[in-house]
Amino acid sequence: MSTAAGGDRGARQGGSGKGPETEPGVADLFGRLNLTEEEGEVAAFSDDEDEDAGVQWAVVGKVLSPSTIHATTIKGAMKPAWGNPCGLKIRSIGEKADNLFIAEFGDKFAMERALEGSPWLVGKHAVILRDYDDRLVPSEIVFDKIDLWVRILNLPLGWMNAHRGTRAMGLVGDVKKMDVDGDGKASGPFLRARVAIELAKPLRRGVLLKTDRVKPPDWFDLQYEKLPFFYHSCGVLGHGDLECATPAPRNALGKLLYDITLRAPEDKKKKIQSLTQAAAESFGMVL
Ligand SMILES: [Zn+2]
Repeated sequence: MSTAAGGDRGARQGGSGKGPETEPGVADLFGRLNLTEEEGEVAAFSDDEDEDAGVQWAVVGKVLSPSTIHATTIKGAMKPAWGNPCGLKIRSIGEKADNLFIAEFGDKFAMERALEGSPWLVGKHAVILRDYDDRLVPSEIVFDKIDLWVRILNLPLGWMNAHRGTRAMGLVGDVKKMDVDGDGKASGPFLRARVAIELAKPLRRGVLLKTDRVKPPDWFDLQYEKLPFFYHSCGVLGHGDLECATPAPRNALGKLLYDITLRAPEDKKKKIQSLTQAAAESFGMVL
């Protein structure tokens, strides 16, 4: 099945709508699938199609939840979080249990704001986004990483910069952005970076850094901002005790290996997350 689908896409990408005799890839399909002459007919896209047929400003998303989340629930959470952008449309794609969706925006600015502001949450569950591509097939869409803002706490002064900080953050995942000033220096009580983290692996609780030539490496605690739902036994995002394949035993004190301290406390100076919230807060409305 999958090889047939792959070949079919190859044929579509050829895209000129000619007969099977000249379409690259189709002759090969004829042989493998024993196509009838009718089945060998090709429908192709053309470059002069209406704008309506395509999608201009869109992202593909997934809610990382063990239960099925309906598109209206996703829209109910994302619309205020994204500042009620003009023209927002959300629809489910693929198998229900995969919680995949497409979000369309009225303009590029709103789309980029959503892409760069992740992680977003539906309830406590993470929403992961990626660029939309016309050629994506829902069953093949893979979300294997999530971008999170990570903090390393109580670092020695010599590590509060982009140079060494990137090395430390590199232990956590792919470093997308360091929160440093124009000179590459970090300020505040922790080092902060946006890091792409592998979803299949347990969250790291800290990093080992050799901060001194002669002494052994030291352990530095990590915290994650807006950390979504994860299982406190295995440390993996997106599932709970019922779905876990690799639960870990409790320690001698009866505690699970992971706990809520991995979640960074909310800023004291509260960031306004959306226009709706801002309006609600200034007029004292209850949401
Ligand atoms: Zn697990």
